[in-house]
Amino acid sequence: MKKEKVILIGAGLCGLYTAFLLQKKGIEVLVLEANTRIGGRIKTLTGTTGVTMEMGATWFGNQHRHILEVLYTLELPYFRQHTQGVSLFETMSFVPPQKFEIADSEEPSFRIVGGTATLIEKLASEIGMQNIKTGSKITTIKEENNQLIVMDTAGNSYSTDKVISTIPPNLLVNSVVFEPNLPETFLQLAKKTHTWMGESIKFAVEYKTPFWKQKNYSGTLFSQASIIQEMYDHSTADNSGFALKGFLNGGTSVLSREERKEKVIAQLATFFGPEATDYVAYYENVWREEPLTFQPYEQLVLAHQNNGHSSYKNPLQKGKLYVSGAETATQNPGYMDGAIFAAKTLASQF
Ligand SMILES: Cc1cc2nc3c(=O)[nH]c(=O)nc-3n(C[C@H](O)[C@H](O)[C@H](O)COP(=O)(O)OP(=O)(O)OC[C@H]3O[C@@H](n4cnc5c(N)ncnc54)[C@H](O)[C@@H]3O)c2cc1C
Repeated sequence: MKKEKVILIGAGLCGLYTAFLLQKKGIEVLVLEANTRIGGRIKTLTGTTGVTMEMGATWFGNQHRHILEVLYTLELPYFRQHTQGVSLFETMSFVPPQKFEIADSEEPSFRIVGGTATLIEKLASEIGMQNIKTGSKITTIKEENNQLIVMDTAGNSYSTDKVISTIPPNLLVNSVVFEPNLPETFLQLAKKTHTWMGESIKFAVEYKTPFWKQKNYSGTLFSQASIIQEMYDHSTADNSGFALKGFLNGGTSVLSREERKEKVIAQLATFFGPEATDYVAYYENVWREEPLTFQPYEQLVLAHQNNGHSSYKNPLQKGKLYVSGAETATQNPGYMDGAIFAAKTLASQF
């Protein structure tokens, strides 16, 4: 069994940024990731036209100073979300949507040039892929001889002084076996900690041209009546690739992909004209079907419930196990900014 200094579980933003900070302190790390890809809830797809589309985290604002600071340090440029032109607000299916314009003076949202995955790729290259192991799904964490033994589904075992989990708390306590078991109060808290966006459905439609902009539509849409609930223009920073992207009504997870796609294209054609049917490709991600993000709750859990709870500050298993991740952050929990803040908070304790 190989002895590792610090084991981080999960190669999402929090796991990778924690690893980056610990390495800067001269601490050896190994990041174990269950998936074959890294990034977790950051998932950028590239279409055949070259447009990048976010199936997970996308936006941040001036209030998110931790992520802004990281982008500055890593020299990753970002740009303002396009909102110019006519935006639509649909309240009822049987009346046309209301039209409105978003003033330039509104507080802007930003996106990372090249896609959010650029941040993940940059962190991974700084940490070194030799220190990140994918396809390593942790199933058991055992305390033995004042060490923690971490075991994965591939049959690997690692002995270490410290483990930092960045798995969303509800998923952690429902998918990893602890010996000895974690305290009951912690288990109850984790089971009632909301995983931000775990129930959401993201979609994107890739186009050859930004026909909506040519008709003076911004691409922004809010609807309380149709399958698309919220949508924005998703053109690239240099305006070389075009897409519309947003969130579908969560209840449509019971429909098939084909049914959702048909409804999305029909809604876009109603609002923006027949050009909407001339798309390159339709993409979607039903996050409640991602077992490495979402686990159904035992009871009703509200959005952001117990996010940033003070108990997440306390290490478990005699000070050897830390539970981190975006949901544990005391600032902007659930968001990328929270994932960065949680990483900074934890790394400062080492
Ligand atoms: C659809 C969607 C839209 C979002 N939009 C935004 C946005 O616009 N702005 C924003 O700021 N935030 C947004 N977020 C939230 C943002 O994605 C998260 O805050 C952030 O990515 C969380 O990072 P994390 O590292 O804490 O967790 P995760 O990204 O969830 O990382 C956890 C990692 O652990 C791995 N893992 C799970 N189980 C195991 C196991 N047993 N063993 C090993 N590895 C395991 C997972 O595969 C994953 O890689 C969005 C999220 C979603 C899903």
